Amino acid sequence: MNCPIFKENQALQFIDLHTHHPCGEPDVLEIESIYPGQYLKGKTRWFSAGLHPWHLGNIGLKEAAGWLRGHAANPGCLAIGEAGLDKVTDTPWALQESAFEQCIRIAVETRKPMIIHCVKAYAEVTAALLNASPVPVAIFHGFDKHPQTAKMLLDAGFFLSFGAALFRQNSHAAAALQQTPSDRFFLETDDNDLDIRSVYERVAAIRQIPPVQLEEQMRQNFTRLGLDITG
Ligand SMILES: [Zn+2]
Repeated sequence: MNCPIFKENQALQFIDLHTHHPCGEPDVLEIESIYPGQYLKGKTRWFSAGLHPWHLGNIGLKEAAGWLRGHAANPGCLAIGEAGLDKVTDTPWALQESAFEQCIRIAVETRKPMIIHCVKAYAEVTAALLNASPVPVAIFHGFDKHPQTAKMLLDAGFFLSFGAALFRQNSHAAAALQQTPSDRFFLETDDNDLDIRSVYERVAAIRQIPPVQLEEQMRQNFTRLGLDITG
């Protein structure tokens, strides 16, 4: 496995792909998610920056794209996101589409993977991603949909990220996780008061694999994202 981030930080054991509340603990590689108007909390040096569909109101799109370009150039920026489309939020659809296009363009230019926020817009989000050239690596975060939706995304070449929904009884997330190949998913805490270690424990139990095997798999998956991490 050839990933500088693990070579330089041998204590890293867990990966929290997407969090708004980094814990700052030395064994967790955590990607703090920020959008325009937010600042990093200083607990982790790795982050993702994106134009979140919920938070497009306070800043012009041109300015927001400039903010994103600036952050994407930072070596600590491992991914573009959250980015995507949301049919439940009040943000005008056309504005969401324009912001998502900007995010896709910058992800393609910088060759960074995308962390996708998608609510009731799977057809539109996948169409926009598959339209890009080359198609960016994209991870649908907080996945909690039917296994059929998971299959559609996996067949299209995308990744899934699982978190809090796995703790609910009979969740779609657990069913989808069971059908997801081991090299196509990540784990996250998102906005929840969760320890990433407990997510690992839950997933190891659902998939009936030893925790160390899951840890190794997550490191491999992360490495395969092709991240050029030097920061
Ligand atoms: Zn989030």
